[in-house]
Amino acid sequence: MGPGPGARSVIDYALARRAALTGLQAGRVSRPEVCDASPYLLRAARHHGEPTTRTCPVCLAGDPERPKPGDPLVNVIYGYGDELGGTSGRTWATADLPTLAGRFSELQIYVVEVCAECGWNHLVTSYVIGTGGPPVRRVSRRAE
Ligand SMILES: [Zn+2]
Repeated sequence: MGPGPGARSVIDYALARRAALTGLQAGRVSRPEVCDASPYLLRAARHHGEPTTRTCPVCLAGDPERPKPGDPLVNVIYGYGDELGGTSGRTWATADLPTLAGRFSELQIYVVEVCAECGWNHLVTSYVIGTGGPPVRRVSRRAE
């Protein structure tokens, strides 16, 4: 589930994630504040989310009406980049990333973990993939 070979500018958000959960436990942050997945993100999680072996840290924290263990988290992967044009900001599968990395110069990838049950969501990691060469769209525009 790591960023894979060739990824650069890798940022791990584990510390910020832990801080959010500590804040929740300490009552400094309310549950609606950390479980604020938008309808769009929840839909992406249901349709494009990739299963993880991790369970939701909020559901797990003990909801009296939900005695079962935490719900599974899914990863939603977003890709942004000028070269993607209108598809910038859409979701991708991990399996797509090597192809994208070989085809485009620079794409920013964000991996967000989501619990579709309670709406918990947090950035897991972000990184840049791509050849680092000339941007693809500019090349094709010049060729027109
Ligand atoms: Zn949850």
